[in-house]
Amino acid sequence: MSRSLKITILGCGDSAGVPRIGGDWGNCDPATPKNRRTRPSIMVQSDTTTIVVDTGPDFGLQLTRENIKTVDAILYTHDHSDHVAGIDDLRIIQGRINKKVPIYLDKKTHQSLKTRYGYIFEQTSTFYPAVVDVHLFAKESMRQKHQIGDIEFIPFEQDHGQGNISLGFRFGDFGYSTDMRNLDDKAVSILKGVKTWVADCADFAHGHGTLHADLPTVERLNAEIGAEKVYLTHLKMFYDYNKMAAALPKGFEPAYDGLIINAQILQL
Ligand SMILES: [Zn+2]
Repeated sequence: MSRSLKITILGCGDSAGVPRIGGDWGNCDPATPKNRRTRPSIMVQSDTTTIVVDTGPDFGLQLTRENIKTVDAILYTHDHSDHVAGIDDLRIIQGRINKKVPIYLDKKTHQSLKTRYGYIFEQTSTFYPAVVDVHLFAKESMRQKHQIGDIEFIPFEQDHGQGNISLGFRFGDFGYSTDMRNLDDKAVSILKGVKTWVADCADFAHGHGTLHADLPTVERLNAEIGAEKVYLTHLKMFYDYNKMAAALPKGFEPAYDGLIINAQILQL
C-alpha cells in the first residue's frame, strides 16, 4: 500500500477571501486564476482516509470544487470565523455517512463553537440530530502523536497574537501553520525536518502585525525548521500571485487554491 499523502490547499485567502464582496480584487490581477482565494483550509488524504483542517465559510464550495463527498474527520485550528463558519455543512456529510462527523479541537475552540453553534453539538429540535462527535485535544496531548485512519499527525500550539492560540499540525513530512504570528521552540521542534511547510504570511508586505506573520518571521523560523519548500498562505488581496512569486526568496512560493502537495507518511 502506498505510504504517500496528498495535501490539497482548499483555500489560501485571508478572512475576507479574494476577491472581496463586490469584486474588489485589491492589487490582484483578476485575469490570474491563482489570485482567486477562498478562506484558509487544507485537505490531507491517504489511500483510505480524508481529513480536512477547518470548515470556513467556503467549506461546502471547496469540497464541491474538489469533488469530495465525505470526510473521515475535521481538525480545527482555532475558533475564528474564517476557520469555522461553514460548520453547518457538516450536516450534509453526517447524513451521507449516517453517523456523527468526528471533529478534533482544543477546549477553548470547543467551548466557543458550542456557544455559537449549540445545535451542531446537541439535538435541539425534533428534526435535526446533533452533527459532530467531539474529540478534545487535552493540554497534555499537544505535541503527541494522534491517528485518524492510517494518517498520523501531531498538533502543536502556535502564537496567533493578542493572547490567541491556534493549533498547527504535522502530517508525515508536511507541516501546516496557518494563523500564527510566531512559533516558540516547542512548535519549531515538532516541525523540524518537514520537507514542505505551509505557513501564514498574511502580513507579507505590511510589516509584522498583531495576529499574523510577515516574511522575515517565516524565513527566520524556516532557518530552523529546514523545509525545502515553504508555501505562504492566508494571503490578502494586496498580494498579486505573480508579483509575490517574483519577490520571494528561493524555496518560497505563494500557495494557491487547488495546489496539490505530495508528502510521505513517516514514523513520527
Ligand atoms: Zn484566519
